[in-house]
Amino acid sequence: MDRETTTTTAEGAGRDPRRRLPRTDAVLADPRLAGAAGRLGRSLVKSAVTGALERAREGEIPPEAVADAAAAALPETAGGLRPVLNATGVLLHTNLGRAPLSEAAREAIGAACGPTDVELDLATGVRSRRGASVLAALAEAVPDAEAAHVVNNGAAALVLAATALAAGREIVVSRGEMVEIGDGFRLPDLLVSTGARLREVGTTNRTTADDYAAAIGPGTGFVLKVHPSNFRITGFTRSATVAELARLDVPVVADIGSGLLRPDPALPGEPDAATWLRAGASLVTASGDKLLGGPQCGLVLGRADLVRRLSRHPLARALRVDKLTLAALEATVRGPETPVHAMLHADPRRLRERAERLAAGLRGADVDARAVDSEAAVGGGGAPGVTLPSAALSLPGGYAAALRRGTPAVLGYLEDGRCLLDLRTVPAERDADLAEAVRRAGASAAAGGEG
Ligand SMILES: *Cc1c(COP(=O)(O)O)cnc(C)c1O
Repeated sequence: MDRETTTTTAEGAGRDPRRRLPRTDAVLADPRLAGAAGRLGRSLVKSAVTGALERAREGEIPPEAVADAAAAALPETAGGLRPVLNATGVLLHTNLGRAPLSEAAREAIGAACGPTDVELDLATGVRSRRGASVLAALAEAVPDAEAAHVVNNGAAALVLAATALAAGREIVVSRGEMVEIGDGFRLPDLLVSTGARLREVGTTNRTTADDYAAAIGPGTGFVLKVHPSNFRITGFTRSATVAELARLDVPVVADIGSGLLRPDPALPGEPDAATWLRAGASLVTASGDKLLGGPQCGLVLGRADLVRRLSRHPLARALRVDKLTLAALEATVRGPETPVHAMLHADPRRLRERAERLAAGLRGADVDARAVDSEAAVGGGGAPGVTLPSAALSLPGGYAAALRRGTPAVLGYLEDGRCLLDLRTVPAERDADLAEAVRRAGASAAAGGEG
C-alpha cells in the first residue's frame, strides 16, 4: 500500500476484503457523484468510482466507504493539469509553467473565454487588427518601441525574425552567445532551421564590435545579440554593446530573453527592452512568461518597418497566439503588480516572520517544523548567479512526497534530509493553505505507519 495516497477513509483498511462491494451504478447515484457528472463529465466520475471500488477490492477501504473515496478522488476540473503550490524557491519554475498569472490576468482570461472582440471594433462593427489593444498596451509600456508583435513564445519570436529578415542570408552572432536555453533547445539550431546561415564571430570569451564589422556584407540579414540568460562567463571577457552594434549598417536583433520591459533595480545584470531599444536595437525579442510575469508568449518590439515585415510574413499566422493569451498579456502589462514582481521584491524579514508563524502553528499540531533561512533563485533561465535571501519551513524529509501528492500539491525541495518549503515563491495569502496541506501530509504519513 502506498502510504502517501492513503487518506482518512483508510480506517479499517484490510479488515474484511470479502465483504460485498456496492454496484457501480449504486455508487454513481450518490448525490455528490451524480452532481459532479454535470460539471466534470460522466467518464471522469466513473473512473473515480472504478478506482475507489478497486481500493475496496484490495481491502484498502471498507465497502461502505467507496462513495466517500470516489468523491474525495474527483478532480477539481475536467482538465488534467493540477494546481501546485510552488515552495521550491525557484520563482520561474519551468516544470511548473514558469510565471504564475496575476488575479487580473486570470479574470481577463475568464472574460475572453466566450465570443470576444479580438478582431472586431465594436464601436464601428468593422473588423479590426487582431489584439489591437494589447499592442497598444505594449506601446504605452515601452515608448521606445515604434511597434509590437506577439507570437507563441520567445523561440517563435526568434524564428520569425530569422525567417522574415535572414532566410537565405546570414545572421552574424558572437561565439559567446551561441547558447542552449534548456531541455536541449539550442538557439543556433533553431536559427539555422529557418534557412538562415550563421556567421560566427569572435571567441567564446571575447568578441569586439570590430569582429562583427569585419563579417558584415551584402549577405547579412541582421546582427543578433543574445543575452546569455542562464550562465555567466567571467574573467578575461569582452562583448560588444548594443550601442556599438547599432553603429553597424544592418539591423540589430536583440534577444533579452526574460521580458523585463524596463530596468529592475533588484536585477542589475538583467537587460530590459526599453534600455536596449534606446541603445539602438532595431528589434528586441523576449518571453512573456519569465520576468514579465505573464502568459507564455513571445514579444517582438521595435522598428515599425521591421515589425511589419515580421507580422506580415506568412509564418506569422502559424505562430500567432489565441485570445486567452492576448487577454492575459494585456492584463499583465496594464494591470497591478504581477506575482513574479512581488516574489522578486519580497522583504526577507517578512518571509522569516511568516516561516516562524507557520512553524509555531504546526508545532502546536505536533509537526516537527522549524523556520530556517534559505536562498531563492529566479530560475526559468533567468538571472544566473543571483540568489535572493529567503526563509523556509523545514519539515522531516518524509513530508516531501506526501505534500507533492496532496491537494493542492505542494512542491518543496530536500536539503540535508529535511523537506524545505521556501516562502518567497508562496503568496502570503496561501499560508493557511500551506499549513493545512502540511497537517494533512503529516496525517497521511502517520496513517501509513511512518513519521
Ligand atoms: C528563454 C529564452 C529564450 C526562449 O524563450 P521561450 O519563451 O522559452 O521560447 C530565448 N532566448 C533567451 C535569451 C531566453 O532566455
